[in-house]
Amino acid sequence: MIVIASENGRVGIVEAMRVLRCGGSALDAVEAGIRLVEDNAEDETVGVGGIPNLLGEVQLDASIMDGRRRTCGAVGSVRGYAHPISIARRVMEELPHVFLVGEGAERFAAEIGAERRHLLTEKTANTWRRRMLEAMTEEELEHLAEDPNLRRWVSVTMDPRLAGGTVNFIAQDAKGNIACGVSTSGWAWKYPGRLGDSPVIGAGNYADNRYGAAACTGLGEMTIRAGTARSVVLYMQMGLDVEEACIRAMKDLQELQPGGGVDIIALDHRGRPAAVSNEKVGGTYVVMSDEMDTYEERPRILVPPLIGGA
Ligand code: ASP
Repeated sequence: MIVIASENGRVGIVEAMRVLRCGGSALDAVEAGIRLVEDNAEDETVGVGGIPNLLGEVQLDASIMDGRRRTCGAVGSVRGYAHPISIARRVMEELPHVFLVGEGAERFAAEIGAERRHLLTEKTANTWRRRMLEAMTEEELEHLAEDPNLRRWVSVTMDPRLAGGTVNFIAQDAKGNIACGVSTSGWAWKYPGRLGDSPVIGAGNYADNRYGAAACTGLGEMTIRAGTARSVVLYMQMGLDVEEACIRAMKDLQELQPGGGVDIIALDHRGRPAAVSNEKVGGTYVVMSDEMDTYEERPRILVPPLIGGA
């Protein structure tokens, strides 16, 4: 049994392993681990305390995939609910659909009695306000919601230091089943309704018991274009080992312009992990197997973009 996660999964990985040790499934472990990250208001990239969109609203995205039969569920642009990962799981389990967004996702969340939560913290509200006022006047900010040209602010409020962050979890349980989950508040100051790769199956999340699973963080606009998580699993299906598969998928991104930071974690069906990053020197991810008392932080392999692009 093993659980791996992006570095911010530290707060949930021990609990995810506890769930596996108690006989829980890979899906249970992934959901339990991610819920703790979603609850962590210190993490400004996931769940409560996530950085809001351009209008100061926190919109959350999440997806979960079951490697047994490749069933999956995803939600996008959900407001006012603490645990999008659990809503995504219920979409997978209760609907004939895989993906709900916006009002439909919120309606479904209400129907299943999902926990409501105020997602904007005082800290993120202040950060948002300060950031907006660097780009616009008080008056423009006051009328932002009615601005017929909201798109003009997207570029000026881009902040590479705050552009993103997401949590990835992959678990393999005692039966050898693999599940993969991803949850995020998305790109800081995004245009309302923007979805990244986190809820897009194949881009930010993919799991197939036969070969393994992969999940991404970073600029979702990149991994959507390349179908990155699915590519990693497909490269494993074609015979590459997990590390090579990650490197190869990262190389597929090297020529994309405009480019951006992307990180991948992956696990093969034998329980071997790997992780890569295209820009984080010293980037890490976390790993915990059932033989370990706690998690280990391991380095990501750096696969830098081609200088100057194609
Ligand atoms: N992948 C996320 C998104 O595009 C953000 C991130 O991980 O930085 O929404």
